[in-house]
Amino acid sequence: MVCNYHGKKNNEIELMNLDHKYLENTLDWYYMCAKCHKIYDYLAGLVGNKKVKSIPNLIKNLKQLQTREEREQALKDIITHYINKRN
Ligand SMILES: [Zn+2]
Repeated sequence: MVCNYHGKKNNEIELMNLDHKYLENTLDWYYMCAKCHKIYDYLAGLVGNKKVKSIPNLIKNLKQLQTREEREQALKDIITHYINKRN
């Protein structure tokens, strides 16, 4: 299937959590492909990667968005920006 976030085909779809607190708040959980999940975790600073600079306050800013649509759009923008910059 086509990943909503980077817009290309990837059959490895994972459930990710915005802050790795794994609370029941459904607005904290999103399905995205394994590639985007990895990128998000690096950019959010949830997983260390020497080659990827994390974005300050990314999690805090995402959690200030009140709807799933706004959060999905922000995630999409952040991930595609990262991918385009790297290519
Ligand atoms: Zn993806």
